[in-house]
Amino acid sequence: MHMTAEILAVGTEILLGNITNTNSKYLAGRLADLGITVLHQSVVGDNRERLSDSVRTALGRSDILITTGGLGPTGDDITRETVSEVLGLTLRSDRNSVERMKRYFARSGRTMTLNNLKQAMLPEGAEIFDNDFGTAPGCVVEKDGRTVVMLPGPPREMTPMFEKCAVPYLSRFSDSVIKSINLRVFGIPESDIQARLDDLMQGESPTLSPYAKEGEVLLRVTAKAADGDTALGICRPVAEEIKRRLGDCCYGEDVDSLQQVVVSALTDAGKKVSAAESCTGGLFCKRITDIPGASSVFDCGVVSYSNDIKASVLGVNPKTLDAFGAVSSQTACEMAEGVRRLAGANFGVGITGIAGPDGGTEEKPVGLVYAAASDGKNCYVRRLMLGHGGSERAHIRMLSSSNALDMVRRLTLGLPQPPDAQAVPVIPRRTDTVL
Ligand code: ATP
Ligand code: MG
Repeated sequence: MHMTAEILAVGTEILLGNITNTNSKYLAGRLADLGITVLHQSVVGDNRERLSDSVRTALGRSDILITTGGLGPTGDDITRETVSEVLGLTLRSDRNSVERMKRYFARSGRTMTLNNLKQAMLPEGAEIFDNDFGTAPGCVVEKDGRTVVMLPGPPREMTPMFEKCAVPYLSRFSDSVIKSINLRVFGIPESDIQARLDDLMQGESPTLSPYAKEGEVLLRVTAKAADGDTALGICRPVAEEIKRRLGDCCYGEDVDSLQQVVVSALTDAGKKVSAAESCTGGLFCKRITDIPGASSVFDCGVVSYSNDIKASVLGVNPKTLDAFGAVSSQTACEMAEGVRRLAGANFGVGITGIAGPDGGTEEKPVGLVYAAASDGKNCYVRRLMLGHGGSERAHIRMLSSSNALDMVRRLTLGLPQPPDAQAVPVIPRRTDTVL
């Protein structure tokens, strides 16, 4: 049994380019994971005739049709009616959905209007998908050997509904599953990784594909098998071999981000970090605090853009600023140690550099960044040349914060810093900075 599917995104906004069709992208990826082949993807506006045509065409050539959008209460939401009409099914009010909607409105203190009841009108015989994040239920209905899944448009409603309700339903149509192990690597350029893993990249089961993004590489090891455990068992030896070859530059397996790994390492170690940022303007702290639970590892950060603030708030010695400049390893170290003391944290980070497009000199060009991390005994500092010699401000800032995150990861886990890092002993200070 090999089933084919197609995805139909409903919405004039998508046709006009007002919104990006992320739903189809998401569904296509997930259907591939399930081993269901997607042969067509299309977009149609909120127009009854054209939607009818699209549904009819889809049902003429694919086993499964998945629609997103047009399930809401307003007049332009016509997916339910149109699909039912094409299938020759009548709409019935689903009592459970009405009750859920009443509760939803009661909770949010709003009154339910009559047109909301329209959303509970679903084709007879449909299996109903509850909407845990909105009002419009979705559903799946089968007719004459064809299956239609209808999902709401907003991604934050569509995605959880798809995972919770549609995936269990659709997995019966799939005779194989595809599983992946995702490894994340920081600190080795993509070309080096290619060279080191070349033989593994030739493999067919599992396959190994690299995805490079903002100084990081995601390595995806993928295998297809009759069940998930078998597929993962095929992936495992290759994943372990990659970890062996790339060592501590491979920072996580099936994790979302470097900052997630840093926050959990700090949490496990019961340690805190703080950061003084110049050219990154708070990006390091933003990435740390993006992670739920960051409050147990982070109390404070300082965006010290001007020299005055570097001196008055962080206690950077004005002589250091005079002698070496704001963009120097010395200043980066004093910022790191200064903010560590200010916050009473275990680790302090200092980032200072030239993000461009202006402000570069021959001696200190755009892309020159110093990243420092102090544990109170030693301050490790790296001189980084970021960007590609151009003025990619956002890119330079992103890479600066990633390098600092990686240094904190290494400090927390007791791993060595990269070979180019210089270790400077921290000189204990008698009096702390008074604000
Ligand atoms: P609602 O109850 O919010 O009206 P709906 O199921 O009727 O939901 P639509 O009215 O078609 O869905 O779209 C609502 C919103 O969902 C859009 O404004 C858009 O922000 C988002 N959305 C819809 N379709 C897509 C899509 N294919 N990709 C990404 N976002 C989408
Ligand atoms: Mg709508």
